[in-house]
Amino acid sequence: MALENDSELRDLIRKAALLNAVGHDGKAQAGAMVGKILGEKAELRSRVKELSGVINAVVNEVNNLSLSEQKAIVEANWPETQKKEKVEEKKLPPLPNADRYAKIVTRFSPNPDCVLHLGSARAILLSHEYARLYNGKFILRFEDTDPKIKRPTLKFYDSIRQDLKWLGCTVDEEYIQSDRLPIYYKYTEKLIADGNAYVCECMPEVFRKMIIDKQACSCRELPASENLERWNKMLDGGYMEGQAVVRVKTNLENPNPAVRDWPALRVIDTKKYPHPRVGSKYIVWPLYNLAAGIDDHLMGMTHIIRGKEHYTNMVRQKYMYKYLGWEYPEAIHYGRLKITGADLSKSKIVAGIKAGTYTGFDDPRLGTFAALRKRGITPEAIKKMIIEVGIKPNDVTLSWENLFSYNRKILDAISNRYFFVPQPTEFKVLGVPKTFQTKLPLHPEQPEHGFREYSITPVDEDKAVSFWVSKKDTEAMESKKIFRLMELFNVKVESKTEDTVTSRFASESYEDVRKIKVQLIQWIPKGTEFPAQVVMPDASVTEGFAEADCKKLKPDAIIQFERFGFVRVNEVGEKIIAYYAHK
Ligand SMILES: [Zn+2]
Repeated sequence: MALENDSELRDLIRKAALLNAVGHDGKAQAGAMVGKILGEKAELRSRVKELSGVINAVVNEVNNLSLSEQKAIVEANWPETQKKEKVEEKKLPPLPNADRYAKIVTRFSPNPDCVLHLGSARAILLSHEYARLYNGKFILRFEDTDPKIKRPTLKFYDSIRQDLKWLGCTVDEEYIQSDRLPIYYKYTEKLIADGNAYVCECMPEVFRKMIIDKQACSCRELPASENLERWNKMLDGGYMEGQAVVRVKTNLENPNPAVRDWPALRVIDTKKYPHPRVGSKYIVWPLYNLAAGIDDHLMGMTHIIRGKEHYTNMVRQKYMYKYLGWEYPEAIHYGRLKITGADLSKSKIVAGIKAGTYTGFDDPRLGTFAALRKRGITPEAIKKMIIEVGIKPNDVTLSWENLFSYNRKILDAISNRYFFVPQPTEFKVLGVPKTFQTKLPLHPEQPEHGFREYSITPVDEDKAVSFWVSKKDTEAMESKKIFRLMELFNVKVESKTEDTVTSRFASESYEDVRKIKVQLIQWIPKGTEFPAQVVMPDASVTEGFAEADCKKLKPDAIIQFERFGFVRVNEVGEKIIAYYAHK
């Protein structure tokens, strides 16, 4: 007997394919199954080629089903196989030396010069998660002390607060560095008075040459009293931009020239570059290491969790901590997280928006949280991905598909299903024998979500019914080929013109056609359609028709357009406008 007619074998393969598919995001891997089947049917070893053909056919048929349909079949037939699938929740490793501190304190400290993007997810979520894990405190600190180059903008303070809220991170305390300049001045004065910092008047190029040669400049050698005079002159506006820099002394022999006598404060002409919050009130502004270093101590930070590109900053700050008699917090430096295909450069994002390349910070092509939110990527998926990557120091490269896979698992379980027909083409069925009352579940596994109901009534002596189906489906149609209108009935194609396909009713039961792996296609009865636009990840727009029931949807709902993808509803009015998340 030809193997393809061996129904017992087909059933065996089908079960294996379904179980494999459910474990692989809905896509069974044919390659993995040949060995499995041969393990059970050793007598087929001499017929591997023929067997592979049958496996490929069955796998195709199974992969045509959605993940939910596959799960529903597996759950109904072999529920015992699913008990084992208990996924172990990945947990974060314990924080180093956590028991040394009465309360764990972590922080996220962005510069409000742009909206946040996926590149910040790790710093935010790990810091917040650890604070919660230890019943500690999570601080949001705006590091807005560069009114000139990395200039903060008022609206970004709010968008950052909003992004954190969306990510599910509650902030226990918030600080804004531009409110804290007197504090930085106080400690700078102490550092200078103690001879641990100095006001350097050297030209930058001159200083750079000397420091590379491990040589002290003449300013470094001046007595503290004279440096204090220079410091007061700086505060009083006696220096122009670039004429004076406060430097913190380090060991000039430090192997890294970037560590040696690092710059701590500089003059910024705030008449020309007013700060968005405090205007021209200050002209001396701290640089990153001074402000962050002082704040981390004063705010009681116990653990700093940040990218390893900050490692040198720790080395710099430790000199200052020693001078001030402070203990440096535990610092955890994780590796770089690269997302292939995502442009996560702030400057490119801002430039693209200015040039009109992007429609805004939520343009679907961007990796900003605003864009991800708009597309229906859930914060839970982002969190899951970040926690699984953890705090390893090695670099990790992920793709959008990794994130989508987390998101798909979340959405698949909760999102309602609807039909959407992109590029609608008329599809006529003749010889429909009766009126079909059909109830389509909004969710294949959760009947409590409810149903959409259709009454399909044939008209005229042809007993005809007209539908809309997608152009892509009609392109695959040839005369005599059989298709199944999902959850409705089977049809056989008769003829095709440029804009209409005519078919004839074949039969009702799915069982009739399941074995010949017919394509299931989504449909919308002509006359009930609701115009729809889906904004795709490349910002192009796919036009089509959605089911009439979509009129009831509310903005922010995330649904699945069957065989098309998950989308987030953005607007419902004369038509529905949605943003595409992923398959
Ligand atoms: Zn100097």
